[in-house]
Amino acid sequence: MTPPAIIWDVDGTLVDTAEHHFRAWERIAAERGYLFTRNDFAATFGKRNPEIVRQLFNPHATDDECRAWGEQKEKYYRDAIRNSGVALLPGVARLLETLAEWHWPQAVGSSAPRENLDLVLSLTNTRPFFQAIVSGDEVQRGKPDPEVFLKAADRLGVSPSHCIVIEDAPSGVEAAKAGGMACVAVTYVGHHSEEKLLAAGADLVVPTLEQLNPEQLIALVK
Ligand SMILES: [Mg+2]
Repeated sequence: MTPPAIIWDVDGTLVDTAEHHFRAWERIAAERGYLFTRNDFAATFGKRNPEIVRQLFNPHATDDECRAWGEQKEKYYRDAIRNSGVALLPGVARLLETLAEWHWPQAVGSSAPRENLDLVLSLTNTRPFFQAIVSGDEVQRGKPDPEVFLKAADRLGVSPSHCIVIEDAPSGVEAAKAGGMACVAVTYVGHHSEEKLLAAGADLVVPTLEQLNPEQLIALVK
């Protein structure tokens, strides 16, 4: 039997870089004469930059304008994590290692740009764990659309029904379920409540991945 596959969200699941994203948005918004609040920030989770720019700043922004906003914001973000570093969240390292020992294929399915993912995986020394990486640059539709996870499953050569997504946001949980996958949600970074994650369809919600017994993952794809 082909082993099940795990598809990881990155921001809020593998690492917590939310504060760096917030500062990067705040900086570029201020440069362009906009206020950017914590509430605005909460509305960005799981969304791609063009969606964020049109939703929060300018509904009529052209594709080129959205691209310029996005590129600058991501540059500020990468500068920040390069300077201050980034650590794996509790339980992540152990789970990555356990799954690798079990020979379960692992992928990244993230709304973030490829350059950000490469930097985060490099700073955390986790690149060798992943057999596929799908970034926000490679999909037409952001989460809650399942495109990013379906692409990751396809690259791993595993059917969606044998995939388990690990997520921290309701939009990501919805994306996983829309793709026909099981989903474990983590509340550690605290942006989304257990109730909201369950309402989005999470099969299991844990406070950190330290509380996740890998045997529970097997039960999810049985
Ligand atoms: Mg996330």
